[in-house]
Amino acid sequence: PDVPELQARLSVCRACPRLLRWREEVAVTGRRAAFADEPYWGRPGPSFGDPDAEVLLVGLAPAANGTNRTGRMFTGDSSGDFLWAALHRAGFAALATSVGAGDGQALTGMRIVAAVRCAPPANKPTGAERAACEPWLRRDLELAAPRLRAVLALGSIGWDAALSAARGLGWEVPRPKPRFGHAAEVVLRTADGRPVRLVGSYHVSPHNTYTKRLTPEMLDEVLLGLRRPA
Ligand code: SF4
Repeated sequence: PDVPELQARLSVCRACPRLLRWREEVAVTGRRAAFADEPYWGRPGPSFGDPDAEVLLVGLAPAANGTNRTGRMFTGDSSGDFLWAALHRAGFAALATSVGAGDGQALTGMRIVAAVRCAPPANKPTGAERAACEPWLRRDLELAAPRLRAVLALGSIGWDAALSAARGLGWEVPRPKPRFGHAAEVVLRTADGRPVRLVGSYHVSPHNTYTKRLTPEMLDEVLLGLRRPA
């Protein structure tokens, strides 16, 4: 499949009963007062960005009132505000903010995906849900593979999902399993032997950014480093 076909298939995925209930419940009865008049997406979050990307950014999962509302990755919540400003500074994003369809936002050289595509309660997917969603990440990696130079994993769940999806595709993954950390980096090899860098960054969640565990400068450094060859 190509990217649009993959998105179409993903948009009707109903593999996780708990997340299916939650994404729809939030969309119908659980809306934040501020968004009471807005239509909610209420479906799996599609990837966003350049179909010919050389960098795949792997997030954790849509936020209930963020991507689950706007239908765009990292859009409509404070994690996204932090991330888009950095992506713009690094030259990947056309704009420093992302509001939703029709705002003119676009990514060049990067596509954003997630380890889990439906909003989980308390932002915590179960192990079974992470496993159920991994095949979608595998397909995205496979589609990107011919041009892929780097995968940026935000947080340990994104890191583990990327490693596991790469292994599932028969890519060479270092052993023992590389450990996640901010600016951690390993080289994976695609099935035809091409190197792909896997780079880690602390997640852009408010928990990390408000406490300054992740600062704009730390994220800038990781993003600028993505342009280096493997
Ligand atoms: Fe499907 Fe992934 Fe959503 Fe589960 S989390 S229902 S596997 S898209």
